[in-house]
Amino acid sequence: MNYYLTVFKIAEIPLGYKILRSYQYYNKTQWYDRHSLINIQNENLQRLIQHCYETVPYYRNLFKANHLSPADISSIQDLSKLPILTKDIIKQNYNDLISRKINRIKYINNRTGGTAGEPLQYLVSRYDKELGNALLLRGWGFGSYRFGDKILLLSGSSLVGKTSRLKHFYKLLSNQVVCEVMLFDDNIIQKIIKLLEKKRPKFLRSYASYLYTLAKGLKSRGFNYDKFKGIFTTAEMMLPYQKKYIEDFFCCKVYEEYGAYDGSILANECKYGSIHISDERCYIEIVDDLGVPVKPGHAGHVVATSFYNLAMPFVRYKVGDIAAYSEEPCKCGRRLKILTKLYGRTSDVFRLEDGSLIPYISFVHLFSQIKGFEKYKFLQKSPNALLVKLEKSSEYTDADLELLQYILHRIFQDKINIYYEFGEITRSSSDKRSYYSK
Ligand SMILES: [Zn+2]
Repeated sequence: MNYYLTVFKIAEIPLGYKILRSYQYYNKTQWYDRHSLINIQNENLQRLIQHCYETVPYYRNLFKANHLSPADISSIQDLSKLPILTKDIIKQNYNDLISRKINRIKYINNRTGGTAGEPLQYLVSRYDKELGNALLLRGWGFGSYRFGDKILLLSGSSLVGKTSRLKHFYKLLSNQVVCEVMLFDDNIIQKIIKLLEKKRPKFLRSYASYLYTLAKGLKSRGFNYDKFKGIFTTAEMMLPYQKKYIEDFFCCKVYEEYGAYDGSILANECKYGSIHISDERCYIEIVDDLGVPVKPGHAGHVVATSFYNLAMPFVRYKVGDIAAYSEEPCKCGRRLKILTKLYGRTSDVFRLEDGSLIPYISFVHLFSQIKGFEKYKFLQKSPNALLVKLEKSSEYTDADLELLQYILHRIFQDKINIYYEFGEITRSSSDKRSYYSK
């Protein structure tokens, strides 16, 4: 056991945390075969469903209305007997979703950031949050991090949460260096340069946009840093050009992370590019607009069942994100379920009449090679009509339009009618997701 593990294990006792114990347990389960992982999920689910039925009025009523008993939901396959839980349903049934045993559960009031519309308020069990912390440490391990390795956390306030003395102590014990950034100006870049020179961190974690801005800022000042063994990116979609730039500048791999605190979801990329879900803490389904499971490789809504949030359990919760999954085993040896692609929020997709979803980000990068257009704007007018606005560049030829039409036809096939319109394009905040500028 390394120095940091020993110190942390002792310090955890008065803090009342169980992070390290869980971290060590999950370091073992990450190598379990698929069958054993599903067994863990089924056991966790049975316990959760019993708890929901006995103590959460919303589920009690739902079970009664559907003539179900807890025994009917004994495995993850049975979950489809229950309807999907949306943010609207949560808002309408807020009190009924809280366990009647809430007084016996340690919990935290939480809310989503609201990037996908109105923020959602909810309660989360402290134990579930601790498991999330343990799984985060394990997830960094997919990128060769070991507990106690020095890691620089570059964040706005949401990555580190409210800074309490206890949290500072925790960061210190785990060798985590926190730098809060609200505005990327010259001062902050100078501060980060000093931190890198003094602390020599081996890992870095931040948002995609921060990492990209930092790499560009350091490069323009002629400052190079090649001590990172890995960089973890979180909370935002990382665009391919950003990833390449950051990897080239820092000479190390960028590992993507997908987390949705409200769904108790955490997924981390391994060195083979698979984004492994922490199956032990939640069960994830990927479904189309009609709630039907999509095939591997197809984009769909992320639906999560959190096993440990007993304070306010979310069963089959539609998180508001779009992703695709794979059933192919990963070369790293882990059999944790794999997300192959993260497509961002539900507002970033085109919805077709047959229920299928086409994420904007899945094809927009193809346009970077077309020289004839300066800007693009995509507006889905109805389920079967897509308007593509184009602003020509000085190099435009008819071949550019033909190439664009060919790409869009390959993607949308004949499932939607595409109309083209030429002219100057301005960006407005309401349609920024369907806007693309080179
Ligand atoms: Zn892997």
